[in-house]
Amino acid sequence: MPTVKAYAARSADSPLAAAAIPRREPQGRDVEIEILYCGVCHSDLHTVRNEWSSLLPTVYPCVPGHEIIGRVARTGPQASKFRPGDLAGVGCMVDSCRACPNCRRGLEQFCPAMIATYNFPDRHLGGVTYGGYSERIVVDEDFVLRIPENLDPAAAAPLLCAGITTWSPLRHWNVGEGKKAGVVGLGGLGHMAVKFARALGAHVVVFTTSPRKKEDALRLGAHEVVISTDANEMSKHAGSFDFILDAVSADHDIGAFLQLLAVDGHLTLVGAPPNPLSVPAFGLVFGRRSLSGSLIGGIRETQEMLDFCGQHNIVSEVEVIPIQKINEAYERMLRSDVRFRFSIDMASLRQE
Ligand code: NAP
Ligand code: ZN
Ligand code: ZN
Repeated sequence: MPTVKAYAARSADSPLAAAAIPRREPQGRDVEIEILYCGVCHSDLHTVRNEWSSLLPTVYPCVPGHEIIGRVARTGPQASKFRPGDLAGVGCMVDSCRACPNCRRGLEQFCPAMIATYNFPDRHLGGVTYGGYSERIVVDEDFVLRIPENLDPAAAAPLLCAGITTWSPLRHWNVGEGKKAGVVGLGGLGHMAVKFARALGAHVVVFTTSPRKKEDALRLGAHEVVISTDANEMSKHAGSFDFILDAVSADHDIGAFLQLLAVDGHLTLVGAPPNPLSVPAFGLVFGRRSLSGSLIGGIRETQEMLDFCGQHNIVSEVEVIPIQKINEAYERMLRSDVRFRFSIDMASLRQE
């Protein structure tokens, strides 16, 4: 079995370090991708540290990474959608059943048999799937995305998770012209939500706990910025939002944001803090407001988002790092000290 270089965690409290992992030879409709860049999602950190242990316990060694961009190296004999040299991407999923009602609706992320890019059963090699903190990945072409060539690949990588995860709920809830939209948490997901909500024509308000991010939020496209710890500033927006997207990775008071929704307004969670959040009933019943969640997006919708980004020149704001800085990057992500996504230059892994 061929092996490739990767960075893996061996336990919940050990740092990521160099490792060798197996990759299958491309077969059937497989596409083998030489990875150029991989974005660093907070979900990587939650998984590496086994913070979602009750629902998705981590199997070690764990190789995270699901914001993958690279060049197609080889394809299987039946592959028809990609050719060697194409710029290609892989997001959070590598397979699904393709036959259930959710798959048929293009909602592969809700397929009961969906296989995530890492820490899910690998039906080809046994064990679990290994993600993009690696030299190469082999994926069925139905789960490979086409990346517009005009986009910088380092900055486009985060579109594969942070991009689609924010695009999908904004589209689902018809955020656009004439709508007032809030974005809570200006991290990797949040900053993409700001760019998309602005591009779709909404009035965009950012809620942040980090006053130092105010200028950046305005530059990214926000019309207003609210420091969410300031009760007085918060109260000025009471009852006024059509939609709020919550992209916070840790415990926080969602009641404070429910209060800001207009009648029939929606608060959608994309952030996935490890512990349950508490929901004040009156925050929902006064105003017939609703609370919902959203998980990444289907393959078709991911391609639509990428094509939109190609047309409008939308990419993530990235700080490119060598893989050797990944543990430091996790600590900085926990301190909200990243503008606004780390993107790993995988050339650094080949030098190991
Ligand atoms: P991130 O870059 O670390 O951003 C999270 C942001 O949340 C921070 O920048 C910070 O923004 C805010 N925040 C952090 N701790 C906070 C606290 N204690 N109280 C209030 N605000 C806090 O993370 P990310 O990669 O964007 O991911 C965000 C969350 O979404 C994670 O839980 C991740 O697992 C989840 N996720 C979900 C999906 C999905 O499909 N639903 C997909 C990808 C990721 P400010 O500094 O502006 O306050
Ligand atoms: Zn992610
Ligand atoms: Zn299915």
